Amino acid sequence: MPEFQLTAHELIEQVNNKNTTVQKIAESLKKRILETDPKVKAYVRLEHAQSASKPAGESSGILKGIPVSIKDNICTDGINTECCSKILSGFKPPYDATVIKKLKDAGATILELKTNMDEFAFGSSTENSCFGPTRNPWNLECVPGGSSGGSAAAVGADEAILAIGSDTGGSIRQPASFCGVVGMKPTYGRVSRYGLIAFASSLDQIGPLTKDTRDAAILMNVISGHDPMDSTSVDAPVPDYTKALTKDVKGLKIGVPKEYFVEGLDPQVKTIIEEAINKLKSLGAECKPVQLPHTKYAVPVYYIIATAEASSNLARFDAVQYGYRTAERVKNLIEMYCKTRGEGFGDEAKRRIILGTFALSHGYYDAYYLRALKVRTMIKQDFDQVFKEFDCILTPTSPTAAFKIGEKTNDPLKMYLSDIYTISVNLAGIPAISLPCGFTKNSLPVGLQLLAKPFGEEMLFRVAHTYEQNTEWHKIKPKL
Ligand code: GLN
Repeated sequence: MPEFQLTAHELIEQVNNKNTTVQKIAESLKKRILETDPKVKAYVRLEHAQSASKPAGESSGILKGIPVSIKDNICTDGINTECCSKILSGFKPPYDATVIKKLKDAGATILELKTNMDEFAFGSSTENSCFGPTRNPWNLECVPGGSSGGSAAAVGADEAILAIGSDTGGSIRQPASFCGVVGMKPTYGRVSRYGLIAFASSLDQIGPLTKDTRDAAILMNVISGHDPMDSTSVDAPVPDYTKALTKDVKGLKIGVPKEYFVEGLDPQVKTIIEEAINKLKSLGAECKPVQLPHTKYAVPVYYIIATAEASSNLARFDAVQYGYRTAERVKNLIEMYCKTRGEGFGDEAKRRIILGTFALSHGYYDAYYLRALKVRTMIKQDFDQVFKEFDCILTPTSPTAAFKIGEKTNDPLKMYLSDIYTISVNLAGIPAISLPCGFTKNSLPVGLQLLAKPFGEEMLFRVAHTYEQNTEWHKIKPKL
């Protein structure tokens, strides 16, 4: 098999056994990207494809010479980081995000072309990118999910060995599910957010998108840990996540929330998830119904908190020190701000700024924002209750498989409902993983989501890896 088709752990082994070299890996990946990406469009600024074949750094770390693809909202020193927004066009950060620093310290090669995303991570389809949409490798007429759609499509299309995304309401897991790859949203505070361009700071986490669970565990080992540069990162020891890949779920208690199996769930997805439950039962896990009664409030609560935080985070883009500035003649500073922001932000970004500013405005703050915070606590308490008795929770990642490009762009509410199963996790700050568990009749992948208590990533890896190693889904590749 050519190098680009292999997982990172297979490549690491092949390099160690002298069956390949880091140079060959880089050449193979670059060739694949140049051949396939004109169809998939997982990357932006393809002119930097050359960087895929740059020689690896000096480090002899675990990821020596392994290329890693990075979402366009994570700062890379001297390399364009634009959040796929016109307002950040030309922005080259003068520093590396902590995750980038950690990846480099582990020997990884950071690609200079970035992966496509919804502008500022606002979206579920990667259609809100100023560079145009990414396509789903399983059906080029479908979306890859979002907002980390470029990272997911790149991994799914074998145009990336490992990828990094960010997840505020499902942006790693939902595209992972749509593209047939593994995606993990870590516990809030597990991975440093320093250098991640903020969307909603109380919800954002960086995480891995990979071809299998072992690669996700390896990547989590590298990027996790306390960082003095992020005051919300937690100073707790990082276990070796690969030790959790035990292939044993005997006696584990898995909760299946009935609130996730209601109207709106595609019957094909439902059947596939039920088969996954049966598989886990046959492997010795105990699966039982549980209740998460405040689930129905997750979408409205999220769209108040996330937009409120986004509107204040996006206030910093004023065109004074970096990014896009209007070319029009202006009379004063305020007019310069207005014209620049009017031209620089896309429609969805503007919608979020307006919604969020409204939710925080005098007279509405108590009615919307404060109330949403209270319901957020209730959602968190639902999980606390279940995790007193259960080791993890199992749900579909998304109510449907990938939808057609353009299908939901005129109906923001429909688009927002695409994240109905992923949002609660961010509101509660808990970790979750999505992994492939089957295909619809149209050959589109379906994802299984597992949730655990805070810092329960090892439990997620244990259950996910056991399921994966007893099924073949992760080995099936799209024909491109
Ligand atoms: N789709 C959700 C939104 O548009 C989640 C996005 C994300 O996780 N960044 O807000």
